[in-house]
Amino acid sequence: MTGIAVLGSTNMDLVAYVARAPERGETVTGREFRTIPGGKGANQAVAAARAGGDVVMIGAVGADVYGDLLRANLSGSGVDTEFLHTVDGPSGTAHIVVDDAGSNAIVVIPGANGTVTALGPGEITAIASADLLLLQLELPLPAVLEGARAAHVHGVRTILTPSPVQPLPEELLDCVDLLIPNEHEAAALSGSADPYAAAELLLRQVPEVVITLGAKGSLYAARGGGPVLFPAPEVTAVDTTGAGDTFVGTLAVALGEGRPVPEALVWASSAAALCVQRPGASTSMPYRSEIDAS
Ligand code: ADP
Repeated sequence: MTGIAVLGSTNMDLVAYVARAPERGETVTGREFRTIPGGKGANQAVAAARAGGDVVMIGAVGADVYGDLLRANLSGSGVDTEFLHTVDGPSGTAHIVVDDAGSNAIVVIPGANGTVTALGPGEITAIASADLLLLQLELPLPAVLEGARAAHVHGVRTILTPSPVQPLPEELLDCVDLLIPNEHEAAALSGSADPYAAAELLLRQVPEVVITLGAKGSLYAARGGGPVLFPAPEVTAVDTTGAGDTFVGTLAVALGEGRPVPEALVWASSAAALCVQRPGASTSMPYRSEIDAS
């Protein structure tokens, strides 16, 4: 089984569905409210575990009711939460207003995620003994850097999802083996809106890049070769939340199993296509048997 360590965020998404979002100072009555487990770290952990990985989640939740629910959601999908610490104060939350046009406005409060500024010996050992480390940018950067360094020193392959996008320190990029931005993140990081050009530019900083292109699929590039497009299966999307995280978590499992990159990308694309055909984020992530059957 592929050992995967995820160092990342765990949030409860608090989603209000309204016909029209309120203006400043206005109150509107909404239609529906849902609490949905999220956070890019936790989502990638669930995706990888459902795809057949042996996954350990490193991060923090708060000492509140959301913390218990977030932990239960991860362990329900088979994720090891030994290094998901419970800290004083609230869990991370994302306050989301979705209107009938499908537009959303989001306030993220890091809560417990913001307390993860350094790693202990247990976390370092968990990373060192994994096959792959999955990183995103929803935890404080010092912790992300420390995790990346630990993986690098121990020869653990590191995949970074640069979200929320921000300038990346060279020290971090030096430890990244595979960078997986979406189209917008790739443009912001490279300065080029053309994904093919962006892939070439990003290869100056990391050895391998996958740029996800939504319904268009994904673009893979490694040093020494031109970018190759892997089209996504044509499906009817009902909710694309979590598609990117499903793609990354599943890809990590396939790569850890030593499957060739093209085969791994096709498998990850199948998993993400299954995810977009169902509502929700972590709840819509497919299990290995479903990916294999699709
Ligand atoms: P993010 O959700 O992080 O912005 P993308 O929108 O690029 O990332 O989606 C990630 C991956 O999910 C894509 O590369 C693709 O494989 C899959 N995907 C996303 N939207 C669709 C869609 N409408 N149909 C099929 N696959 C999709």
